[in-house]
Amino acid sequence: MSLPEAFTERLEKIVPHERFAAILKTFDAPKQVTFRVNTLKSTPSELEAELSQGGIAFERVEWMEGVYRIAPEDKLRLTQTEAFYGGRLYIQNLSSMIAPVLLAPRPEETVLDLAAAPGGKTLILAGMMQNTGWLSAVEPSRERFFRLCDNLKQQGVTNAHTYMTDGRSVGKKCPEMFERILLDAPCSSEARFKTYDEKSTSFWSVHKVKETSKLQRRLLLSAFDALKPGGKLLYSTCSFSPEENESPLQHLLERHGERLKTLPLILPFDNVQKPLERWGKEVYDERIQNAVRILPTDTIDGFFICLLEKTS
Ligand code: SAM
Repeated sequence: MSLPEAFTERLEKIVPHERFAAILKTFDAPKQVTFRVNTLKSTPSELEAELSQGGIAFERVEWMEGVYRIAPEDKLRLTQTEAFYGGRLYIQNLSSMIAPVLLAPRPEETVLDLAAAPGGKTLILAGMMQNTGWLSAVEPSRERFFRLCDNLKQQGVTNAHTYMTDGRSVGKKCPEMFERILLDAPCSSEARFKTYDEKSTSFWSVHKVKETSKLQRRLLLSAFDALKPGGKLLYSTCSFSPEENESPLQHLLERHGERLKTLPLILPFDNVQKPLERWGKEVYDERIQNAVRILPTDTIDGFFICLLEKTS
C-alpha cells in the first residue's frame, strides 16, 4: 500500500528537500519501541534492575533520564513483565514524551490537559507534579475518556480530575484558572501513517485537514482564555500540515498577539526543522519561528511543538 498522493505531494513542499526521501522511508517500517519509567511508582535504577532480572535487553536513551528503547520484536515480551502490569513503565514514542517535559509543570501548580486521552502525556504531567497540585484532564470521546481514567488509575495518578467534556467550552467556564496548559490537539495524525496499515490513512483528506484546523483554532482560543497571566501553554500535534500547526497559532496571535509571546525551544537532536514562514496565501507571524517541527526517524515520530506564555 502507498501513502495518499496528495499527502506526499504536500509533504515534499513542507519538509527540507534533502531529507524528503529518508522521511518517506520512515512510513514503511515500525518504529523502535521506547518506554519510560513511571516515577510515581519506581525509579530509573529500580526499573533497570527489575527488567535486567527479567532478561529484557534495553538501551538507555542518553538525552532523557529514565527513558529506554528496545527492538520492535521485543515489545511483546516487555508487555508481559510484572513492571508493565504494575504500571511501573509506560510505552510511548519519544516525541510524545517531549511535549509535557517542555511544558515543565512543577509540584503544587494548577495544570490543564485539554485533549487528554488516552493519557500518555497526562501521566508525565502528573509525575512531574509529583501527584500534587491540581491536574484537570479533559476528553469528550466517551470511549477514550474511560481509557484515560483506567490509565491514570493503573499508573497511580492521584492528583488528576477528569472531565468528559468539549475542550472548546473550558476557556469560558474556567477563565484564567491554569498556570500550565497542554493542548496536544486532535489532528489528522499524519505522522502516524504507515504504508503497511491501510487504516492509518483511510480517514485522511485535504478537506479533513482543513476541518481539523478549525477545531484546533477554537481549542487554542479556549486554552488561551483558561490560561493565567504569566502562565505557559504548549501546543502540539502529530501532523505535518501547516493548516494544523502554524495556522491555528497564527489565528491565535492575530486575536491575542499583544498578550502572548512564544518561547524558544532547544531539543537534544538534529532531526528538527524550523516552522514554515508561509503556506499558500498565509504569511505567518515571525514569533511562530520559535516553534519546532520534529522530523520522523526510525525511532521518533514527526511532531510539532510551540510553547507560548501569556503576558501579565
Ligand atoms: N494527549 C493524548 C496522549 O498523549 O495520550 C493524546 C491526545 S489526541 C492527539 C487528541 C485527543 O483530543 C483525542 O483523544 C480526541 O478524542 C480529543 N478531542 C477531540 N475533540 C476534542 C475537543 N473538542 N475537545 C477536547 N478534546 C478533543
